[in-house]
Amino acid sequence: MQLLVVGGAGYIGSHMVKQLAAAGHKVVVLDNLSTGFSSLAKYGSLVIGDLADVKLLEQLFQDHKFEGVMHFAAASLVGESVQRPGKYYRNNVANTLNLLDVMVRHGTKNFIFSSTAATFGEPEYTPIDEAHPQKPINPYGASKLMVERILQDFHAAHDLNSVCLRYFNACGGDPEGEIGECHDPETHLIPIILQAASGRRSHITVFGRDYATQDGTCVRDYIHVEDLCYAHALALDALANCKLQGALAYNLGNGLGYSVQQVLSTVQKIVAEDDKEVTVEEGPRRPGDPAILVADAALAKYILGWQPKYADLETIIRHAWAWEKKMAIVA
Ligand code: UDP
Repeated sequence: MQLLVVGGAGYIGSHMVKQLAAAGHKVVVLDNLSTGFSSLAKYGSLVIGDLADVKLLEQLFQDHKFEGVMHFAAASLVGESVQRPGKYYRNNVANTLNLLDVMVRHGTKNFIFSSTAATFGEPEYTPIDEAHPQKPINPYGASKLMVERILQDFHAAHDLNSVCLRYFNACGGDPEGEIGECHDPETHLIPIILQAASGRRSHITVFGRDYATQDGTCVRDYIHVEDLCYAHALALDALANCKLQGALAYNLGNGLGYSVQQVLSTVQKIVAEDDKEVTVEEGPRRPGDPAILVADAALAKYILGWQPKYADLETIIRHAWAWEKKMAIVA
């Protein structure tokens, strides 16, 4: 298929483009490189540009007959979204509308959207399934939920078919080690611990040990980026082959919860094989962190036929560590 991947130079998007290219699809990547890297977009043909630029979008859709669009480009820092909500609603909602309008004008019907567990807000129960109420507690989660709603209306009005995939904690890297996670600033637990091990940062601070969990640290559902991308590929196939129609949404996680301490201990064991250590400091809770966030991904498994290949935390961390060692050499 001829596909457009918006945000294909970012962490998850670049892994997606690699998978799509390996499956024989022709991929155009549109990315403004605000948080992405052209070096990560090497498996598609990169167009540097922004979704705010409707003329550019029109041109792209005139030049290519896209059969599907995957949309990964978004601002995704929860704290920043509270400080600068305008940026989040403009970038994540208004710019997505530009894309959807152009898709409708050009008759492109299949859309895969990166959504998030943050659309649920404070969990009322875990594991979180699709029936869980969606009450986001920050502009980031709200902006993603708005797009989920917009997609329902676009299906009703324009017959645009979509699958929203709500990610829990995406992590890990390409098993072949060619691409991996790069954020600036980095806020995620696994890369931060690995950077503390490689020497790219001095330490990791554990944000709170007084949660109502087994060891007092927060529990999250860490899902390998390859598994996440595989679910997107299955969703797109199902839309393209008319096996699925509508405005659909599935939660994506392993269904396994690991605590911050469990992640830390696993990293410490793995990096010790390279004679590396992690300096750990204790800190207060980070505002807005629920104690436990775990997905119930049974629906994605049942409907898409999806199965995670790398559910094991040790494998996830080994892949991420291989990438971090490369980054540490370059830095
Ligand atoms: N965390 C931590 N120290 C850090 C970064 C994260 O203790 O430097 C904790 C954080 O409080 C949360 C978990 O690790 O409980 C995962 O955080 P991350 O930012 O990776 O993902 P989130 O769950 O917020 O999407």
